[in-house]
Amino acid sequence: MKLLEGKNVIITGASRGIGTGIAQVFADHGANVAFTYSSSEAPALALEKELASKGVKAKAYKSNAASFSESEDLVTKVLEDFGGIDVLINNAGITKDNLLMRMGEEDFDKVIEINLKSVFNMTKAVQRTMLKQRKGSIINMSSVVGVKGNAGQSNYAASKAGMIGFTKSIALELGSRNIRCNAIAPGFIETEMTAKLDEKVVQGWRDGIPLKRGGQTVDIANACLFFASDLSGYVTGQVLNVDGGMLT
Ligand code: NAP
Repeated sequence: MKLLEGKNVIITGASRGIGTGIAQVFADHGANVAFTYSSSEAPALALEKELASKGVKAKAYKSNAASFSESEDLVTKVLEDFGGIDVLINNAGITKDNLLMRMGEEDFDKVIEINLKSVFNMTKAVQRTMLKQRKGSIINMSSVVGVKGNAGQSNYAASKAGMIGFTKSIALELGSRNIRCNAIAPGFIETEMTAKLDEKVVQGWRDGIPLKRGGQTVDIANACLFFASDLSGYVTGQVLNVDGGMLT
């Protein structure tokens, strides 16, 4: 059964990793997918082709999620190209890890701008459309690090915890208009973001995960599918840990 037939979706940061995984699963479920990238043009165009070959509408947009005006322009273009927006997934994110002692102001600001301010930018940009249609689902890609913290990631943890507060507030503000807002807190998912981590550290994490493996992008995509579809029609303001039991 296709769960997103004909729905129009925007995913930020889908040129690789989790965003690509979400785009693939959503297209398999009949969704039309608009997605962004910041610099990876070739993989973004390849994904656009791949999704279109599944018989849905798909388009890649170069757009910096940290920019308020670029986010507004993006939503205007997507509305022209797709005719509506049913689901927003705020997925774009970066890390700039360091102990506080060595973390520069620029690395703190950049992570907050790309991971957290972007969520404000995009949510505000789609709000009017979703209010008018009295329907919508917004999904924010937080992290287990936003729930429990992590040494060497104070900037990232602050951004991801901020997303959770934002999610719950928007769920309260927009619930009466049938707009739902939920967050996903992935654990350790095998992507380029985690490939740069020290293998010893990674093995230590894997050992501590009850399911004894790192997650795959499809594990997160399936959780997004639940939040985007009518299966979660009575669920809002929630944070779902998709972490193999890491936080248990
Ligand atoms: P990734 O492989 O590094 O991919 C990041 C994506 O974000 C890329 O498509 C990148 O596009 C895009 N992006 C970066 N900066 C952007 C900007 N300013 N504007 C628009 N797009 C931008 O990361 P990932 O592992 O898939 O992670 C995706 C999300 O899940 C992130 O929010 C991350 O914090 C969260 N997460 C990941 C894990 C994990 O274990 N992997 C765990 C918890 C949470 P370009 O290629 O063009 O730069």
